[in-house]
Amino acid sequence: MSDVTYSEKMPVPENMKAWVLGNPEELVQISKPVPVPAKAEVLIRIDAIAICATDLEVMKYGTPAMIEGGDPFNKNFTPGHEYMGTVAALGPGVDEFEIGDRVTVEIHAGCGQCKRCRSGMYTSCHNYGLNYRDMNKGHRANGFTSQGGFCQYAINNINTMIKVPDDMSDEVATLVVTAGTSMYGLTELGGLVAGESVVVIGPGPIGLLAVAVAKSLGASPVILVGTRENRLEIGRKLGADIILNAKQVDVEAEVKAITGKGADYVIDCAGSEETVNQSVHMTNRGGKVCLAAFPKNAVTFDIGYLAVNNIYLYGIRGEGKSATHRAMAFMAEKRFEASLVHTHTFDMNDLPEAIRYARDRVDDAIKVVVTNSY
Ligand SMILES: [Zn+2]
Ligand SMILES: [Zn+2]
Repeated sequence: MSDVTYSEKMPVPENMKAWVLGNPEELVQISKPVPVPAKAEVLIRIDAIAICATDLEVMKYGTPAMIEGGDPFNKNFTPGHEYMGTVAALGPGVDEFEIGDRVTVEIHAGCGQCKRCRSGMYTSCHNYGLNYRDMNKGHRANGFTSQGGFCQYAINNINTMIKVPDDMSDEVATLVVTAGTSMYGLTELGGLVAGESVVVIGPGPIGLLAVAVAKSLGASPVILVGTRENRLEIGRKLGADIILNAKQVDVEAEVKAITGKGADYVIDCAGSEETVNQSVHMTNRGGKVCLAAFPKNAVTFDIGYLAVNNIYLYGIRGEGKSATHRAMAFMAEKRFEASLVHTHTFDMNDLPEAIRYARDRVDDAIKVVVTNSY
């Protein structure tokens, strides 16, 4: 404790308000001790946090969260992972940040010692969830295997933190990790270079920001496929050259007509059997399909078509290889208007209502952000 640095300008209370997961879909607000940062860690006062579709999955099914080797229910576990805030205390030896810095965070720190973490693929850490008792490999993924952000204070590894420019709002700063996830799929794993064609299926937050990032990277053309006109229009504003309404046109035929031989990249952010099949068949020979959604059931598709056409298929779960830092570079330069994805704001005390908006898409909600007032 004595090696932790606090400051009078950011007084840290002993206890905080925190939402914890009881039974599936049951959130209760309780008082919890404010955690204390260890080596290479920082305490962040949470100012804003976006609700993600994966939070809804965690609260309903438990997966992909893993607490003490199992589901996260009734374990005093606070979900939530897309947050930003202000540095409130520094762990021993931390001089990379100062108290008072505004930061946004990546979710996964990984364990830092396995083969994947050592190569920067910390979202694919081989020690996922191993951070308890004699299984403690130190794995961290906020709101999945370590405590999340639907509360007032959280611990973060310094590797996962990115400074927020003064002119970026708290709400927009919560979206950086979503853009970072899209960036990771396109560049670090995909190898996208300027001039290649990209199709994004599914105008949810990741899909819309994938459009924005792809356009900023010089992809051409960028085609967005969806069914909701209002979301497709937002996609256009974020940089889509062409939008296709899957209810109105045969998207496979349209993509082939536009690109000639199919797209170089297809990113499936919808994750249904139909969209996985569309993705495979609208990709050109030697092209790449990125699966960015998590289908809940097994999906049947023409795997022979993949083999014969030398199509690469890969999945992403979140960010990696510090792609979030690069996404911040685009957003700090205002290469696209990320705020278009943010539709609603609620107070942290009203989290259940905010979740209802996100889950039921009340009032066409896309990204719902929850803020703490101090
Ligand atoms: Zn998320
Ligand atoms: Zn690891």
